[in-house]
Amino acid sequence: MSQRRLHSFPGGISLDPHKSETQDTASIRLPVPEKLILSLQQHVGLAAEPCVTVGQSVLKNELIATARGYVGMRLHAPTSGVITAIGPFPVIHPSGQSTSCIELTTDGEETACELVRVDDPAKLDRKAIYQRIADAGIVGLGGAGFPAHVKVREGTAQTVDTLIINGVECEPYITCDDRLMQEYPDEVLAGAALIARAMNAKECIVAVEEDMPSAMGALRGAAPDAIELVSVPAIYPAGGEKQLITVLTGLEVPTGMLPINIGVAVLNVATVVAVFRAVTSGQPLIERMLTVAGDLREPRNVESLIGTPIQHLLNYFGFSDLSSHRVLSGGPMMGTEVLDLRASVTKTVNCVLALPRDWEEEPERACIRCGECVPVCPVGLQPQQLFEASRISDVDAAQDFHLFDCIDCGCCAYVCPSRIPLVHYFRYAKSSIEALDRDRAHADLARARYAAHEQRASAQASTTALSGIELADVSSVDAGELRNEVAAAVARTRLKHTDDSGE
Ligand code: SF4
Ligand code: SF4
Repeated sequence: MSQRRLHSFPGGISLDPHKSETQDTASIRLPVPEKLILSLQQHVGLAAEPCVTVGQSVLKNELIATARGYVGMRLHAPTSGVITAIGPFPVIHPSGQSTSCIELTTDGEETACELVRVDDPAKLDRKAIYQRIADAGIVGLGGAGFPAHVKVREGTAQTVDTLIINGVECEPYITCDDRLMQEYPDEVLAGAALIARAMNAKECIVAVEEDMPSAMGALRGAAPDAIELVSVPAIYPAGGEKQLITVLTGLEVPTGMLPINIGVAVLNVATVVAVFRAVTSGQPLIERMLTVAGDLREPRNVESLIGTPIQHLLNYFGFSDLSSHRVLSGGPMMGTEVLDLRASVTKTVNCVLALPRDWEEEPERACIRCGECVPVCPVGLQPQQLFEASRISDVDAAQDFHLFDCIDCGCCAYVCPSRIPLVHYFRYAKSSIEALDRDRAHADLARARYAAHEQRASAQASTTALSGIELADVSSVDAGELRNEVAAAVARTRLKHTDDSGE
């Protein structure tokens, strides 16, 4: 293990890890659910486009939705069966909203399509590696959901001094990356080497939290010299992308910039395993490891098919009652409450956590300006000022206080003696500003389209008027008449447009 000099980031807190319940127990697979619900929007970027129809039979691994745009993502059938619906279903979202999904009624046969394997991945060039990752529909499995092929492609296009494989799973209860490193250390390391080669990275680090000794032991037994294993102190949120970069390199990612802009790329360990399987075996991303924990009978890590309803997962662990518990997707610090258990596992769900409702915090009280939230913020923000701006929806002030630098880590809310759910306020303010920006962008687009339409209509009217005159004896038409004819044609076209648009 490396003796690399580590650095500290501002703020952070020590938390009770609650990991022993699942950390040392092997992961399991559950019976295939009767139905899988696959959201078309489970990543950053445009929603995927279904390429199947209701009633169509599909095989395991078959493509069921195509990527749209550069930051798009493909979706594959996690098992064989029949497509029985395409439409809105409940999803994991703070608002409890529904979104477009594909419903797959499973047949229990697990009949799979043949995958295109590569015998010697060392012979693949960067482009082929990138393409196989894109074909497999892999997104960042650490939670952000950024398409992995885009990140790897950006890395191949720019200089990568340091590639960091993030195994620092700092939220309480979550141990799926820990189990993955313990159960598949060879694939973690081979995937890291493959991505380092594709990005031409000068160094490659696999970072593991210090309270994961078994994972570090498994990696140490298999790591080649070219990969540096580093144990990172268990301070929350050391696993945050920017915080981990600072801990390992001493560098800071400036506001508004990406890690790649300072020569660093960070990928989660689960993403790396998925990339390895995609590149070597052509395996699309149809399942993921996630932790099912909290107030449950024998919590465990589960290899879950994408699209598995949360209710199906929890039923296995003897849980059925939402009135006495709140269920989170993610950990207790950054997780999102699951308001409808029919919502399903997406590619970014790393934990399903059931906590008794009496675990919840006391009622919110007024801010007493104690300032305790300030020193724990790992980004160096002023949470109390951000709270004031967010509370009264002062979007300009919130942005002046760098709202969008907030990583939603919850350190400020954790120490707040007034039990103010600060992150809820910040998330609400961010989504309000994003909605405003979207509305403005739509309005700008609509204006631009209208102007372009007007321009086209004018040009067409001019051409029509002129061509009509050309048939006549042009010499007999004076310039004034010609101008009037063109103007009338333009006016008619405008009038027609106004009628059509219902204005
Ligand atoms: S910790 Fe809570 S009460 Fe104290 S200043 Fe911050 S927001 Fe206000
Ligand atoms: S939630 Fe945001 S403001 Fe609060 S400590 Fe974390 S980064 Fe700072």
